Amino acid sequence: MRAQAVTQVDVAIVGCGPAGVVLATLLGQAGVQVHICDRLPGIYEIPRAISLDHEILRVFQQMGVIDQILPFTEPFTNSEFFGVDGQLIRRMTMVKPPFPQGYTPSVVFSQPSVERVLREHLASLANVNVALGLAMTQFEQDETGVTLHYEDGQEVRAQYVVACDGGASAVRSELNIGLDDLDFDEPWLVVDVLVNEKGLAKLPPTSVQYCEPDRPCTLVIGPQNHRRWEISLKSDEDPVQAATPEATWNFLKRWITPEDGTLWRQSSYRFHALVAERWREGRVFLAGDAAHMQPPFLGQGMCQGIRDVANLAWKLTSVLQGKVKGQAAERLLDSYGDERKAHVHELTSRIKGVGALICERDVEKALARDHKLLTDCGGIVKDTPRQDILPALTTGLIFSSPGAGTLFPQPRLQQGQLMDHVHGCPWLWVTDGTVQTDVPPGVSTLDLSVDEEAEGVVALWMQRHGVHAALVRPDHYVFASATHVSEAQQLFAVWRAQLN
Ligand SMILES: Cc1cc2nc3c(=O)[nH]c(=O)nc-3n(C[C@H](O)[C@H](O)[C@H](O)COP(=O)(O)OP(=O)(O)OC[C@H]3O[C@@H](n4cnc5c(N)ncnc54)[C@H](O)[C@@H]3O)c2cc1C
Repeated sequence: MRAQAVTQVDVAIVGCGPAGVVLATLLGQAGVQVHICDRLPGIYEIPRAISLDHEILRVFQQMGVIDQILPFTEPFTNSEFFGVDGQLIRRMTMVKPPFPQGYTPSVVFSQPSVERVLREHLASLANVNVALGLAMTQFEQDETGVTLHYEDGQEVRAQYVVACDGGASAVRSELNIGLDDLDFDEPWLVVDVLVNEKGLAKLPPTSVQYCEPDRPCTLVIGPQNHRRWEISLKSDEDPVQAATPEATWNFLKRWITPEDGTLWRQSSYRFHALVAERWREGRVFLAGDAAHMQPPFLGQGMCQGIRDVANLAWKLTSVLQGKVKGQAAERLLDSYGDERKAHVHELTSRIKGVGALICERDVEKALARDHKLLTDCGGIVKDTPRQDILPALTTGLIFSSPGAGTLFPQPRLQQGQLMDHVHGCPWLWVTDGTVQTDVPPGVSTLDLSVDEEAEGVVALWMQRHGVHAALVRPDHYVFASATHVSEAQQLFAVWRAQLN
């Protein structure tokens, strides 16, 4: 499908991978005129991302596609970490019910099936022009907009551009934006297998991190009969040769043989930890893999990209619709990179920490690691919920108060519906009923003493932070909390000053 001759849009997006398609949908549904292109005519059929979390499912709910996506997901099994002598040294689990965001906290899925749903939904939005099989070749910006040139000769003029053009982002290179290297560079072989009944019977019932110095590797239980192995390669091993079917089956022989399943794909990767130095240059923003890449140990790459665009979408919409103007608009748009870069840096460092634990190649150090982990927990391995590893926002459009920057829960209300289904995703003042105050125009209210929650997830959040109310941003992050009316009035004064 070729693009119509679009000359003027609000936002042009380069790249229709997960970050681009989600951004185009969120903007399109808010009434923004969007042009999105991808140089490939169809989706990338290789199964890359295999896990995502409840924050992303909540974004899919906001987009109106959650019912189509859930059938492609299954709960993520626990991940057990085994040390040098094959003993259990760590266990990653799931937050227990009631689920704070309204969905299973970690699920497995196949990226192509989910991308297909997202693309089909995008095609139904009248104000989004989707140009597939069309590469953006060049762009230049001035004070009033950005002109993009495409390989077929057409031009698009946009007020803002978002580069969702993946890890090798040409937009990032053109803008001369470097990457902070968080110092992780390892060759791995990633193998996806569709395993038959006979093979499934041979495999462990949980996902496994084999923290073995000779060859660290990972087994992930994907949806249905999809199983993934991530196998570290040694410095003298040829990554191309390692990815041949013969070599791959040789790596897998510890678990299964060719009679037990079919290779879906096997590819060698270098796992990196890289974060863009700048996320905005004038009217051009970076998002998704264009802005960061991380090793897949916590399955967060695509999740990070969707967090980026969920953060940027409401800010661009507010500015384009004139709700925030002048210097406040510039500050709001700048807060995107400030918030996301700090968050990605922190999460990538934590992912790297998990990677370092798995990838220890020195036998003595690995034995010391096992000893320390087991000593720290008194010999009884405790559950670490995956979500506990995710950081909060620490900077940007938040006001210092308990719980500010955390992801606010999504309660199920008494009539059975989830909060966002009932209230949408506006600025939302949520109170337990004890902090009664007037809210400024542009802020909606949910008083849980009137419209009660069914499972107590907000009550738990408020108890944890010792507060009675919170002002929640359109991307579900907490701007500020309050315990008294005076604090509420102060936070609204700060809110007004920030956005006006
Ligand atoms: C082995 C592996 C395992 C992973 N596991 C997980 C996981 O479990 N969980 C998770 O969340 N993430 C995971 N990821 C990461 C995830 O796959 C990526 O983070 C995600 O696909 C990035 O999405 P994106 O939209 O930013 O970029 P991409 O998906 O790379 O999309 C970029 C798009 O831009 C297009 N493009 C590029 N240049 C141009 C141009 N000039 N003009 C037009 N179009 C252009 C490309 O064709 C492409 O479609 C994994 C990745 C790998 C490799």
